[in-house]
Amino acid sequence: MRSFVPEARKRVGPKRARIVRILERLLVEHADATIALTFRNELELLVSVMLSAQTTDVNVNRVTPALFRKYRRPEDYLAVPVEELENDIRPTGFFRQKTRSLRGTMKMLVEEFDGQVPRTLDELTRLPGVARKTANVVASELGHTQGIVVDTHVRRLSQRLGLTKRDDPVKIERDLMKIVPREYWGVFPHLLIWHGRRVCLARRPRCEECVLNDLCPSSRLT
Ligand code: SF4
Repeated sequence: MRSFVPEARKRVGPKRARIVRILERLLVEHADATIALTFRNELELLVSVMLSAQTTDVNVNRVTPALFRKYRRPEDYLAVPVEELENDIRPTGFFRQKTRSLRGTMKMLVEEFDGQVPRTLDELTRLPGVARKTANVVASELGHTQGIVVDTHVRRLSQRLGLTKRDDPVKIERDLMKIVPREYWGVFPHLLIWHGRRVCLARRPRCEECVLNDLCPSSRLT
């Protein structure tokens, strides 16, 4: 599905000429596209995004209401025995590794950031267990977008739409940053994620219902 023939590329035209039309149509189609995690403040945002690795947002949202009632400040995550925190986040999977990351992050927040969540990607990626994708999501939600989030949906759709030929998320992000206008870096991943969940499904993309099918070199309709 991913690779597309040169004729298809010729049919839809160069990516720079398509990107604004792709954005305009997705903005109408998924006007409600936003982050699916539930949080009330920047610390809850950071924790939710860290917990969402290797699981669904729905699964994280099931765990966090009780978690956030119990753990309100970075210090709270350090005040309980490791096993207790592991138990509290167990349903999100990889709970031992996530507990290590959470505790390391909370320790650094307390010791180096005055208990606050930093805003720059350089600072965020210093936090234990916080990779570029997590940092990008957090910075963007806090209104400090510095890159483009590349998750599994963004990767798949960018490739199908012929916006990148890369497989590595960092290289995909670089390709996208060259063609997506800066003011759309924050919303663009949400649009692709929701389009990927609702229409451009991993196994059976619904090209016949897709508003991008005349702009997509991978469309099954042609
Ligand atoms: S036409 Fe739409 S659904 Fe089909 S591959 Fe392209 S983006 Fe995905």
